[in-house]
Amino acid sequence: MAKTYAIAIDGPAGAGKSTIAKRLAKELGYHYVDTGAIYRTVAYFMDLLGVSPKDSDGVERYIDELTIQIEYDEEGKQHMLMNGMDVTDEIRTQDISQKASLVSAQPVVREVLLDMQRDVAKAHNVIMDGRDIGTVVLPKADVKIFLTATPEVRAKRRCDELLAKGQKVNYEQVLKDIIQRDYQDTHREIAPLKLARDSVKVDTSELDIEGVIAAIEAIIKEKIPV
Ligand code: C5P
Repeated sequence: MAKTYAIAIDGPAGAGKSTIAKRLAKELGYHYVDTGAIYRTVAYFMDLLGVSPKDSDGVERYIDELTIQIEYDEEGKQHMLMNGMDVTDEIRTQDISQKASLVSAQPVVREVLLDMQRDVAKAHNVIMDGRDIGTVVLPKADVKIFLTATPEVRAKRRCDELLAKGQKVNYEQVLKDIIQRDYQDTHREIAPLKLARDSVKVDTSELDIEGVIAAIEAIIKEKIPV
């Protein structure tokens, strides 16, 4: 099988991972995989069943009833299918963000999703974004980026994003949620959010999108023949 290349972009909520990864994937002709959306789909499924994301027995009992598929439309947008139903938009609420963070700490969930993520990377050149891509999912990724920014900058970006989708936002609440999610994601026992040893940290607090893209392109060019 021909060698496939993998670029891992990890970092906390709102650091700009998906915006940047999407752009780079388009430029490089790589497959973009938003792994957060997969955890969100699990959270949404459990929520519909009335299973708390903290209830490990409940989550373990129902996880086998869930089939997740990732599909891409003509514009390259990633769609999440939950037992065949497109839930791409439904999983983008603040409530599901929190529940995804809680359900993602359940060992059974991480185990089930691990192979799924690795299989995509085996078949395609990928840019994958998440929390544990460079540390756990693809430890041999050719390029590893850790994208971060201050919680205040991230909260502001998240508010702009939600507003653009027509959702109601409250900056203080979004900031509080981000800080709480950071805490949960960095303190869980399995695959916590952390900088991989060989990852390059890029702080985007003071950079615009073009600045971030340029910085990351330079890092990629050093490691991958593009
Ligand atoms: O990236 P996004 O904000 O959509 O992710 C939602 C939640 O899913 C995160 O807060 C995190 O807890 C979890 N997640 C994870 N590992 C990943 C991607 C996301 O635990 N690779």
